[in-house]
Amino acid sequence: MSKIKIAELFYSIQGEGRYMGVPSVFLRTFGCNFSCRGFGMPRGELSAEAEDIATVVHLYNKYEELPLVSTGCDSYASWHPSFKELSPMLTSDAIAERIGEILPFGEWREEHLVITGGEPLLGWQRAYPDLLNHPKMQNLKEITFETNGTQPLTQEFKDYLKDWGYKNGRTWCQGLTFSVSAKLPGSGEAWEEAIRPEVVCDYEQVGYTYLKFVVATEEDIKDAKRAVEQYRAAGFEGHVYLMPVGGVESVYSLNAKSVAIAAMKRGWRYSDRLQVPLFKNEWGT
Ligand code: SF4
Repeated sequence: MSKIKIAELFYSIQGEGRYMGVPSVFLRTFGCNFSCRGFGMPRGELSAEAEDIATVVHLYNKYEELPLVSTGCDSYASWHPSFKELSPMLTSDAIAERIGEILPFGEWREEHLVITGGEPLLGWQRAYPDLLNHPKMQNLKEITFETNGTQPLTQEFKDYLKDWGYKNGRTWCQGLTFSVSAKLPGSGEAWEEAIRPEVVCDYEQVGYTYLKFVVATEEDIKDAKRAVEQYRAAGFEGHVYLMPVGGVESVYSLNAKSVAIAAMKRGWRYSDRLQVPLFKNEWGT
């Protein structure tokens, strides 16, 4: 039976993107190919907040106890090696059972599954079919993969996902979503590594795919425009969202309105991050 290293598994409201406001189970896998230490920092400077917390990781027994960060990746504990002991390797059976326990009616009804990370398409593609085929997952009709858009789908997993969509009585594009949060230079990651139009165009062959850029400054928005041009040139047809940077309320509220206005000006969509005003972005929300 397949196993997945799980950083978090919780039930909440999706705060971002296409499914904003929809009750959702979040399956946060462990591991990422990036570290995004630059978010919210002046260009060229790297956030050290996660590194500082990593030096005292022995003080924490579970995710809910971990401090929030105002710069860098707000999901740092889902990929930083110092926190890997907090993430158990669970079988498909154990994950499906746990999902049954946290769903409000003990089974899938109208809720949606978010497979996030870390980077959920990094190493777990081979394990998802076993989970999604589990008897307790048969009523699930909508899944979003929250990805950084750098990991190609294996042919085997693409075939599986298309079949999954049809099996659930829907066309593939309605039930499957790829929410691609492509990383701009403000994240601290290199352009060539982060902007991979050929990978994202391939997701569009399988499910509804959109781009969601986390921005704070005019320079970030210019970078987003340049990236969109590259995706469009490669044939990408999906929607574009701008979302304000800010894993803590003080940072988020500083630029949410200006990001909404910037999106409107360009005919792009605005994504809030409702988990910040609603739940303070605490782990498990
Ligand atoms: S790609 Fe996402 S999960 Fe990975 S380090 Fe960057 S923000 Fe964090």
